[in-house]
Amino acid sequence: MDRLIDTDVAIIGGGIIGASAALFLRRRSRAVTLLDMGACGARASGVNYGGVRRQGRPLSQMPLTARAHELWQQLPALIGTDGEYVRSGHLKLARSAEDMQALEQYRDATRGHRMHLQLLGPAELRRRFGWLTDTLAGASLCPDDGHANPRLVSPAFALAAAAAGARILEDTRVRHAAHDGARFEITCENGLRVRAAVLLNCAGAWAGEIAAGFGEVVPESMIHPLMMVTEPLPHFMSVSLGIQGGGIYARQVERGNCVIGGGRGALQPDGYARPSRSALPALLARAAELLPPLRGAQVIRFWTGVEGSMPDHNPVLGPSARVPGLFHAFGLSGAGFQVGPAIGEVLSELVVDGASAIPIDAFRIERYAASAHDAACRTESSREQTLEST
Ligand SMILES: Cc1cc2nc3c(=O)[nH]c(=O)nc-3n(C[C@H](O)[C@H](O)[C@H](O)COP(=O)(O)OP(=O)(O)OC[C@H]3O[C@@H](n4cnc5c(N)ncnc54)[C@H](O)[C@@H]3O)c2cc1C
Repeated sequence: MDRLIDTDVAIIGGGIIGASAALFLRRRSRAVTLLDMGACGARASGVNYGGVRRQGRPLSQMPLTARAHELWQQLPALIGTDGEYVRSGHLKLARSAEDMQALEQYRDATRGHRMHLQLLGPAELRRRFGWLTDTLAGASLCPDDGHANPRLVSPAFALAAAAAGARILEDTRVRHAAHDGARFEITCENGLRVRAAVLLNCAGAWAGEIAAGFGEVVPESMIHPLMMVTEPLPHFMSVSLGIQGGGIYARQVERGNCVIGGGRGALQPDGYARPSRSALPALLARAAELLPPLRGAQVIRFWTGVEGSMPDHNPVLGPSARVPGLFHAFGLSGAGFQVGPAIGEVLSELVVDGASAIPIDAFRIERYAASAHDAACRTESSREQTLEST
């Protein structure tokens, strides 16, 4: 292929972020060309745990996550499927009195953000969720959080964007992107060139490389959350589960399979990640300890993915500090599935209106300008706190 496309907006990356941006931009009548090196929704957005939760997010993400919460409810109208989205409730468990105190503090700090968190003591927890281990100190329930099937939801955003008129080009890896002072020129490995006034960097775990190409070096790292799914089992788990401080998370789908996450996989030389054998026994043991009904169940698959993570667990979202017309949206740090649609909408507002009503100052790329090195050196244990596992 050796051809040239002129477009208003070019998007690198067809995960839930890039594809939802494409959809919302088409709704504002912008010409959009989206480039993905593989299949849209096949990387982090399509292989994640499927947690659609607000509980556990930092205060800076409250307006974004609240908007996403509204958009998830509109999924059938937006993308033509409900994506098996259910507002099952998200139950965050406390293993100790200190954990319970942390949940209480979080409830107090997020009052007013309409999560309606309910703290449950051990007796109430046993009465309502008797299928859990009886060693817990309590929990916090967010009744309207839930879960969905990422394999259905994320590709559907790209399909909906295409149906709305976006040009979606898969198996099209961007090799080089530059700005000539007026427009972006993007060169792909297959010879395609794209010219655009606006460029959205939505390349997930690879977006840091694209930003660096424009002189914006940020400490984005790759993480590989480990997942497993059981055979279909009789229904017992009515909510999506997390644990204060992280460690394990679990949900049960309508067919009866239990999807469980915890621990890490490892990156392979081909750019995909695989479960680490050494992490499997710990995940199996933790699952059986937390959820007695799982004892004896067969696990039918383990997997992991490649996710971009930032040292402060917040995304990079907003305009480039150096290049006019360049916008970044990456580094979702293990929690971008729920906020993805709202980020797509925010990007469309930034492009079309020049601003978004959702506050995104905390996510500016400039926050790393002076301290990229220090930030990159923060500990892995603090990173664990805001992953989906919490
Ligand atoms: C195993 C796992 C479990 C998770 N669980 C949850 C969860 O329960 N809840 C939650 O909210 N979040 C979860 N997350 C995080 C969530 O999946 C991500 O934050 C979100 O999907 C990020 O979306 P994205 O569009 O930025 O990235 P991606 O889906 O990775 O999309 C980026 C796209 O960019 C493309 N690309 C990259 N480089 C190039 C290039 N040079 N040229 C062309 N295309 C390129 C890739 O092919 C890819 O399709 C989890 C992540 C993983 C991996």
